[in-house]
Amino acid sequence: MTLFADIVLPLAQEAYTFAVGDIADLRVGDAVSVQFGKSAVYTGIVLRLHNNPPTKGKVKHILKKLYDYPILTSNQLKFWEWIAEYYLSTIGEVMRIALPSLIKPHALNEELYEPYKVAQQRMVRCIKEVTDEQLSRLSRRAPRRAEVIRTLLSSGGKLPRKAIDADATIINALVKAGIIEVFDKDADPTFSPIKNTALPTLSEAQTVALNGINNTLEYCDVALLHGVTSSGKTEIYTHRIAQALSEGKDVLLLVPEISLTTQLVERMERMFQGRVTVYHSKLTATRRTKIYMDMLRNPSGNFVIGARSAIFLPFKKLGLVVIDEEHDSSYKQSEIAPRYNGRDAAVMLAWIHKAKTILGSATPSLESFNNAMAGKYAGIWLAERYGEAQPPVITISDTIRAVKRGERKSHFNKDLLDKISDRLSKGEQIMLFQNRRGYAPYMECPQCGWTARCPNCNVTLSKHLSSSSLKCHYCGYTLPSLRYCPECKKSELVAMGFGTEKVEEEISRLFPEAKVLRLDSDSAAKPGDYERIITQFAQHNADILVGTQIIAKGLDFPHVTLIGILNADNLLNAPDFRAVERAWQTIMQVAGRCGRRDKVGEVVIQTAETSHPIFATLSEHSYQQFAVSQLSERKMFNYPPFCKLVRITLRDTIASRLAEASKALGKRLTHNFGSRVLGPVTPLIDRIRGEMIVEIVVKVETTASFTKAKQQIKGFIEQIKQNRDYHPVGIFVDVDPL
Ligand code: ADP
Ligand code: ZN
Ligand code: ZN
Repeated sequence: MTLFADIVLPLAQEAYTFAVGDIADLRVGDAVSVQFGKSAVYTGIVLRLHNNPPTKGKVKHILKKLYDYPILTSNQLKFWEWIAEYYLSTIGEVMRIALPSLIKPHALNEELYEPYKVAQQRMVRCIKEVTDEQLSRLSRRAPRRAEVIRTLLSSGGKLPRKAIDADATIINALVKAGIIEVFDKDADPTFSPIKNTALPTLSEAQTVALNGINNTLEYCDVALLHGVTSSGKTEIYTHRIAQALSEGKDVLLLVPEISLTTQLVERMERMFQGRVTVYHSKLTATRRTKIYMDMLRNPSGNFVIGARSAIFLPFKKLGLVVIDEEHDSSYKQSEIAPRYNGRDAAVMLAWIHKAKTILGSATPSLESFNNAMAGKYAGIWLAERYGEAQPPVITISDTIRAVKRGERKSHFNKDLLDKISDRLSKGEQIMLFQNRRGYAPYMECPQCGWTARCPNCNVTLSKHLSSSSLKCHYCGYTLPSLRYCPECKKSELVAMGFGTEKVEEEISRLFPEAKVLRLDSDSAAKPGDYERIITQFAQHNADILVGTQIIAKGLDFPHVTLIGILNADNLLNAPDFRAVERAWQTIMQVAGRCGRRDKVGEVVIQTAETSHPIFATLSEHSYQQFAVSQLSERKMFNYPPFCKLVRITLRDTIASRLAEASKALGKRLTHNFGSRVLGPVTPLIDRIRGEMIVEIVVKVETTASFTKAKQQIKGFIEQIKQNRDYHPVGIFVDVDPL
């Protein structure tokens, strides 16, 4: 008999040891309640069972086991442990983000815990064969009973009780006669193997790609499908998905932001009717908990389409993981520990399950591309668009030259305006991309140079027309819009730079007959806004769609033939070693939204830096050339994927204390890691929400043990945290920061 259990509690700590006492059949993964400290009661999860009493302190007993079955599988536990270790976090922190809130362990006011009750669905099914003749006889004798049987037979012999319009006496009579049976859905075994009748027929190029995936996945665990925009990657996935489901396995299709994938979910639901479960953090707590508990009790056969948090669901027999748009930075969770990357963690999850992974993108991350080049992943290349669609023609429009020649109106070069008016006259649609929301990123006084700034953050306030306010995009601080300079009171403020609202205003002024829509996180703030705007545009009820990166993601509009990238320079000039990679991906993804049917699309990129090498590779659609040259730069300057990064962020309200703490940490790190340590440095935005920020980055060679280096880093951080003087300083670690 095991005597002790290590239990993980919702605290940023490792597990604590408790005595099992007289709790019967305690298993790893069980949820329990325990007393912790003087009087606090917590719920927690059993991590390990063993016979070793704790070395110090009095042992407390587990109070209660909360469910009849473990709420965590052994594979989930392995996965949690990997995340905690890799991202320098703790199991307690992983638990806090991994479990849906209704079963998430927490502190209790008293010993009472109301376990989550699994809702059961009453079902009715035929258990006896009924011939046509018997049925017509029954129809004469008891028409309403016959009607129930007909309804059941017409839907495969099984239906929820709610779906049958008959009162209890009729159902009971049929049960008594041994014709039907009433049962709880809960007791239902796994899904029946799926028949894939609705799968799309693949084109020749798609078939070659699918065969490539099938062949390489025989001996490789991960395949990178590099297929240009509109090549039909989704259609290729569906074939592998259907195969895994037909083998009774689970499938996970990860997407960067589920709210932006309405079109994809609809297509999947059409093909895999009744099998799709959509999971993401914006669902209600009840819904998420129900999905979790249902999966826990379903042996396998689930098809989950989800955002990154779906990796924490209790898959039993995961057979396939598909990571769509694998380059997308929203897979990374940077706000709270563990700061994990959903893509990388999903690859590990698949590995734990011995499942296969397909990464898909038109613009792969340099990490994945490099893995494919190095033979770690299989690389499959799909170079042509599906059907008649041709790649768009990409042209570069020189902003400086346009200004010199007097050929620039507001934020548009003449060649772009000419093309817009040409496409409008042909009744075609246009998309305009600007990666800034709001009207203008800052307001300036032309007399004294005053700008509106956030009192909490070291940034300017953006002007927003729709709410007539000045807003901080970091902390949300808002002021009513100002007209005159509050400093010198001599002049009206001028809007500097431009965001999507300004583009919308100007383009409407230049083309008054065109109907213009705007899609960004302001115009799509409420649930349903996003769907409404894209449907309106897809149904051709508008001519021009102005938007931020939100319009770059996966959308498929048949009538868009022209795209304007209004300011490529602010993409390129972001202070980040990934700026060029991001710019390439964003521009190519936006470009991919046009010319998706029979008409050839056209993309105009406005820039003041026409000689930047990125533009040549963009207009030639040469991802390879771009990737190889970027990788050689990364190699030269020793950046990922040729090394690993760990970023440590320190935050405090008192500048001197922050400086001391970061100096002390920097010194220890430098002592150990030498020139691999960058910083402490103050980032470009060095104050957010009233806290000052300092960063230290450690570069670890790929040849060194990353695990060992991370443990050392963790040790140094612990030392600083233990120093009382530095107690109020927040120290946060980000492994593989983006
Ligand atoms: P990607 O994800 O590679 O950008 P999509 O999967 O969105 O491309 O495909 C682009 C368009 O072509 C979609 O409208 C899709 O329905 C259509 N399409 C692609 N492959 C096929 C196919 N084999 N049969 C029918 N339609 C297809
Ligand atoms: Zn002024
Ligand atoms: Zn702010």
